[in-house]
Amino acid sequence: MSRPVIALRSVPAARPIPAARAQEGALVDARGRELHDLRISVTDRCNFRCTYCMPKDVFGPDYPFLPHAEVLTFEEIVRVARIFHGHGVRKIRLTGGEPLLRRDLPVLVAQLRAALPGVDLTLTTNGSALKAQAASLAAAGLDRITVSLDALDDATFRRMNDVDFPVERVLEGIEAAARAGLSPIKVNMVVKRGVNEHQVLDVARHFRGSGHIVRFIEFMDVGSTNGWRMDDVVPSAEVVRRISEVHALEPVSANYAGEVAERWRYVDGAGEIGVISSVTQAFCGSCTRARLSTHGHVYTCLFSQHGFDLKSILRSDAGDDELARAVAGIWQARADRYSEIRTAETAAARKVEMSFIGG
Ligand code: SAM
Repeated sequence: MSRPVIALRSVPAARPIPAARAQEGALVDARGRELHDLRISVTDRCNFRCTYCMPKDVFGPDYPFLPHAEVLTFEEIVRVARIFHGHGVRKIRLTGGEPLLRRDLPVLVAQLRAALPGVDLTLTTNGSALKAQAASLAAAGLDRITVSLDALDDATFRRMNDVDFPVERVLEGIEAAARAGLSPIKVNMVVKRGVNEHQVLDVARHFRGSGHIVRFIEFMDVGSTNGWRMDDVVPSAEVVRRISEVHALEPVSANYAGEVAERWRYVDGAGEIGVISSVTQAFCGSCTRARLSTHGHVYTCLFSQHGFDLKSILRSDAGDDELARAVAGIWQARADRYSEIRTAETAAARKVEMSFIGG
């Protein structure tokens, strides 16, 4: 089994940054979008085989995950993070694959925290190893955490993760994260028609009043192995309607420009939820995110067909200036807006897998 598409583009040359922008450190792409967030995939491996992300028939025992030598070291990751920070990144999310599978992850968190004290440092996990690691991640300097949880009903959850993992252990992980102070905790639920849509209200209810924020995510056509069909998408508007029929909701304005989730709060004060509607309400126009894959390539869109090889610059004798110019060139040349131009044809295109570039 060969690894799906890892097409490459050559790194474009950087344009001079206008003085006003350079002072702020902000880079702007071809559509006027600034660079603010970096998602770092620390491993392409995962212990779950969620049917919508890493289906077992593709990611089976023979799947060619990256060999050790191809994976960026902690030192390389921190160096890249510093370069991106110099270009205006203020929020870093560690992801994967399953980031808690990366050995000594708290050491990386501590190194990032030491190098970039003011950055907002977060992590997305399936929660399977969170009970054991929450305290050490918090002690290392992680600010917050997002836990994926697609159902509360154990049978549905086990079916979706496809490795028979019990929901109880993820809930224990969430509790451990709350005890460690990794709050507010966000809980991500991907909603798939006919699979777990019956769990929307149960999940909302479970976390109502807990201080944790559930975010309902539309099933997306990331990668090319999850058999995506528009019919399987439950639009966010429907999710909001179903919950508000039972618990009244009202919209809340975004915390900051470019926030991915649209926010809603319970009118009775029991907290808030979010919806992420990449399919029915594209938010490309305000996308400020870049992604660094496990093997050191930069992707400027979750739905990319091409990445930029930063690792070969990183592993050459190039200095930080050259690396910074490469990052600037990549961002400045960016014109992607996949979700705005999605069609059945684009959905079928060979795109890089989400487990590979980081969710
Ligand atoms: N393993 C970690 C986890 O489970 O959270 C981090 C990586 S995972 C790829 C990041 C997030 O992407 C998860 O919340 C997952 O549910 C979501 N995701 C994966 N495939 C998706 C798809 N096709 N549509 C929508 N969300 C998806």
